[in-house]
Amino acid sequence: MAKKLTALVAGGGIGGLATAAALGRHGWDVTVYERQDALRAVGAGIYIWENGLLVLEALGAFEEATHGAFHGSHFEQRDNRGEIIESAPIAADKRLLTVPRSQLLHALHQACLRAGVNIVTRAEVTGATARGELLLSGGDVVAADLAVGVDGLWSRVRESLGLELSHEQTLEGALRTMIPARVGDFGPQDAGKYIECWNGTRRYLVTPVSDQETYLALTCLQSETEARAIPVNKALWSESFPQWAHLTERIGSSPVNWGVYSVIHCRQWSSGRTAILGDAAHAQTPNLGQGGGMAMQNGLALAVALKDVKDRRDIPAALEAWEQKERPLVDHCQRWASLYGEVTHLPDDVRSRVIRGAMSDAWIAGAVFRAANHVPTGTRNAH
Ligand SMILES: Cc1cc2nc3c(=O)[nH]c(=O)nc-3n(C[C@H](O)[C@H](O)[C@H](O)COP(=O)(O)OP(=O)(O)OC[C@H]3O[C@@H](n4cnc5c(N)ncnc54)[C@H](O)[C@@H]3O)c2cc1C
Repeated sequence: MAKKLTALVAGGGIGGLATAAALGRHGWDVTVYERQDALRAVGAGIYIWENGLLVLEALGAFEEATHGAFHGSHFEQRDNRGEIIESAPIAADKRLLTVPRSQLLHALHQACLRAGVNIVTRAEVTGATARGELLLSGGDVVAADLAVGVDGLWSRVRESLGLELSHEQTLEGALRTMIPARVGDFGPQDAGKYIECWNGTRRYLVTPVSDQETYLALTCLQSETEARAIPVNKALWSESFPQWAHLTERIGSSPVNWGVYSVIHCRQWSSGRTAILGDAAHAQTPNLGQGGGMAMQNGLALAVALKDVKDRRDIPAALEAWEQKERPLVDHCQRWASLYGEVTHLPDDVRSRVIRGAMSDAWIAGAVFRAANHVPTGTRNAH
């Protein structure tokens, strides 16, 4: 029997676990190095569009990841007076589900275990070489046929390979948390929807993720020190969004985190036998809800691109072909996620006109939802 090819994955987040599970399912001997003492998701809830759901199916993680998930009928935007700017129905054949991040991570972890992936926690990666090596904080060097850096925004793998072109941090950021759900939280006009409300530079995104929990994302500018304060300034947010004061009041039972967004561009996604993906390679603002989807999608596509490799010398060319195939969609998504975020800086009434005009334009709507409508490499519908 041919010897199994070996892979090292730096980072046990959404992208790292999806990549590891995909490689494991394709017959690789995989080890993940995660710096935290356990696999732990940062953030609260997550939107998973059709493309991400197809990847979860391909990894055998769909049922667990989406058990009890919220399946909304509309994505709705409202203005500072609470009036609907745009209410976009979610097409029946294009699913959008929202789940707690912890549930998604757990499902991917289980998929890794089923695929025979070895996971090492408390293992900080400090660098990498183009020869498929990862450097660990204790001074050890581990080597394999392939190494993949999925170590997030401040990727040491990206840095040590000199792949970064730019890392821009936005003026805007988000407070994210989970609150317990209660019967009566949503009136008849709210039920069954994902709802994004605007007021000046502030935004209040209400997302049920199960019968028990609702995910809140409160966005504002980094310069708005009171609005981004932790503990959350409930009086200020209730004043900006009085219709959600009953939800704001409940903030505090789960951790709250604040962060501005990063947009990362790299000159390429690999060097020799070491690749990067996920936020490490192509972080985008969260406006399209596609950063995690792109990370999972590219992890699966990487395993597919390497499926016929029998000799490690063929890995660099396979990685280049992988990037060539997958990158145009990622670049597109990054661009449109950033563009969407620009409406933050418009006066309320202008923003409403722009959103309404843009989303009723078929070409623009097609561009915004291109990733959601994409059939990812390696999934059941892919050619
Ligand atoms: C406010 C906000 C909302 C978002 N909403 C959505 C959404 O609804 N849908 C969506 O698809 N995406 C969303 N995203 C984007 C999504 O969270 C990211 O794109 C996704 O988490 C990227 O996954 P990743 O595995 O590349 O990185 P991460 O999730 O950051 O995981 C990186 C992992 O690597 C580990 N690590 C870091 N450094 C090291 C090291 N040196 N050594 C070892 N381990 C290391 C970390 O501990 C972590 O476990 C959102 C982002 C933000 C900021």
